[in-house]
Amino acid sequence: MTTALSIELFPPQTGEGLAKLRTEREKLAALEPVFFSVTYGAGGSTRERTSAIVKEIMAANFDAAPHLSCIGSTRAGIRESLAEFRAAGIRRIVALRGDLPSGMVDPGEFRYANELVEFIRAETGDAFQIIVAAYPEWHPQAKSPETDLQNFARKVQAGANAAITQYFYNADAYFYFVERVRALSVDIPIIPGIMPIVNFSRLARFSDACGADIPRWMRKTFESHGDDAASIRAFGVDVVTRLCEKLLHGGAPGLHFYSMNTAALTVDIWQRLAGAAK
Ligand code: FAD
Repeated sequence: MTTALSIELFPPQTGEGLAKLRTEREKLAALEPVFFSVTYGAGGSTRERTSAIVKEIMAANFDAAPHLSCIGSTRAGIRESLAEFRAAGIRRIVALRGDLPSGMVDPGEFRYANELVEFIRAETGDAFQIIVAAYPEWHPQAKSPETDLQNFARKVQAGANAAITQYFYNADAYFYFVERVRALSVDIPIIPGIMPIVNFSRLARFSDACGADIPRWMRKTFESHGDDAASIRAFGVDVVTRLCEKLLHGGAPGLHFYSMNTAALTVDIWQRLAGAAK
């Protein structure tokens, strides 16, 4: 399939988690993603682990992009990370504001992601492709959809080359978002973030916190399957595959999978998409 695929991983906390990540990443590598991205813990808590995993992926001849969040950071700290990335040959960064970890009150020297993008450009010119976050169903702290759109455009004006969205299950939210940002003369690729559904109740709790909507018909259908893991899985794969088809059909420039360090669902959905494209 010619659709550009990228896949997100997170740095595990244990040796066991790391061993599993390696196995799952090898299965995901068979899908030939354009790059893997590796998340960054709030306040820099995974700084070393994120870098180590990115370097390991690059050593296996795949492109990898570290996420880098700025809230709670200093300019000197970010400068150090950028120097380390350059020395490692990293060419892409997913640049975020992040959220302050609970208990941490000092926001540091950056308030919003647009300031991080501006800083990366000022310090390193065009050394990195900068990818930012986008929210088709609006960021949970956004004052209004309009200000959220303008704040998104600010990141692009500061030098972002592409965006990956928060996950969503309503394709119209994505198409509407793209239409609105194009009206603001934003022409960068906006890649839908795709969340395969592993555990519906956990996803529902998490979605409330990050501002992603789970449509009522999906919620009700998942609930109707009770504890039947096989039918929950089958319904989740079906729904997410159809969402991806609709997005690609409507012009999405690629797909970014939130793999949650587990290959099976991403592989399954991707293979179905490839089958449908034949
Ligand atoms: P921003 O773009 O700064 O926006 C945050 C809020 O502030 C929005 O409500 C926006 O409207 C408002 N805002 C933005 N700029 C301004 C401004 N100049 N003036 C006033 N208001 C403004 N979190 C992690 O901790 N680690 C990760 O690795 C990570 N990866 C992610 C990857 C993707 C693809 C996505 C979609 C999210 C990811 N997140 C991650 C979560 C993200 O950090 C949070 O959603 C965070 O709350 C916002 O980050 P942001 O970069 O979108 O912030």
